[in-house]
Amino acid sequence: MPNLDISTLSFVAVYCSVLYCVVLFVVAFSYSKAKGLKIFASGFACFAIGFYLLSNRNNYNDWLTIVLANTLICSGISCFRVGLANFLKLKLSFYMAELLLLVLMSAALVYFTFVTPSVNARVISVSLYVAIISLACSWQLLRINDAKMALAQIVTAIPFIITGIFYLLRACYVVFEAEIGDFMLGGTIHQLAFLELIFLILMSTFGMLLLVTTKLENKLIHQNITDSLTGLYNRRALKSNVGIEVARTKRHKLNLSILMIDLDHFKGVNDNYGHQVGDIVLAELGKRLKNNLRSEDIIIRYGGEEFLVVLPETNLQQAIWVAEKLRASIKKSPLCEKPVVTMTASLGVGLMFQDENLDHIIDRVDHALYDAKDTGRDKVSHEIVT
Ligand code: GH3
Ligand code: MG
Ligand code: MG
Repeated sequence: MPNLDISTLSFVAVYCSVLYCVVLFVVAFSYSKAKGLKIFASGFACFAIGFYLLSNRNNYNDWLTIVLANTLICSGISCFRVGLANFLKLKLSFYMAELLLLVLMSAALVYFTFVTPSVNARVISVSLYVAIISLACSWQLLRINDAKMALAQIVTAIPFIITGIFYLLRACYVVFEAEIGDFMLGGTIHQLAFLELIFLILMSTFGMLLLVTTKLENKLIHQNITDSLTGLYNRRALKSNVGIEVARTKRHKLNLSILMIDLDHFKGVNDNYGHQVGDIVLAELGKRLKNNLRSEDIIIRYGGEEFLVVLPETNLQQAIWVAEKLRASIKKSPLCEKPVVTMTASLGVGLMFQDENLDHIIDRVDHALYDAKDTGRDKVSHEIVT
């Protein structure tokens, strides 16, 4: 082990903490929707002050350089846990137990500094706290099952797992180690403990930045395929989401049906009540479709007042039944209350053939819809094979 004394390591830890505290605060202020980032960055501020005090053992008294310094470092780890919970939108569990543990740890520091001085006992207290909270951080990261965030969560969890295991081992090691006279002259394991925390500072910042960018990317992808008025998918989802469903249907030789829904005489709503009322009608129609379909059905706002619904694992008879249900639910009650606007819709239905592509089935369903329009509206038409 090179001659890295604990004062030098503390100084490097202060330097890294300040640097990454600033980096994360800048990111937090420029992307205000990343909840928890400021609390996470505050952890580095606690680290910076804690390590600064720790490196000034000869200049300040024991209250500052032992009790306050270690309490701040432990509070920093707790800030990471709270920040991560906020960022991941998790309910913060066990926070009272954590606070109690922090108070007990600080009390132990006071006791083993002023009443029965023991460096080993202090190291064990702090190490156990750091280990428990670090492992809790990694547990928070790994318990969320979100495939799109998985890589960023694992990358962020790794430094916390390493920290947790290392500090547990350090606590066990110190139990059997001869009483350390002066902590600042501590052996290799204590030097490694500082290097380990510097590793945590660097890697957890990298992890947080990866989490933030992954979240942003997912949001952009979601926005790109979402219709802002209804909150349903837009046409761009045809290629991505529907494409995947069509491929799955063909691979497993399943049924897949498609509905096309078009409001009857919708232009009249705009003409009579204005565009805003037209928008309310469309948004309410979106909700009604969602409430009457399964979560696995894909609803797309295909055009202005035209909606396309993909029904996986649904045969033609079942699809016609669903279409009739939707038609009845649209007609049943007004799509706008003030002014009262009651509407009907025409629907086209089709079952995809095994060798058929998406454009072709949509074309057939569109023809069926025109048939419904041409033969009186407020009805369901199906299957015109061309
Ligand atoms: P049909 O029964 O034959 O379907 O008649 P229609 O009036 O429903 O259909 P048409 O295609 O003639 O008119 C559709 C109207 O939908 C025209 C367009 O201004 C309106 N529209 C399209 N997008 C929106 C939107 O986002 N908001 C509102 N308020 N109106 C829209
Ligand atoms: Mg229409
Ligand atoms: Mg139309």
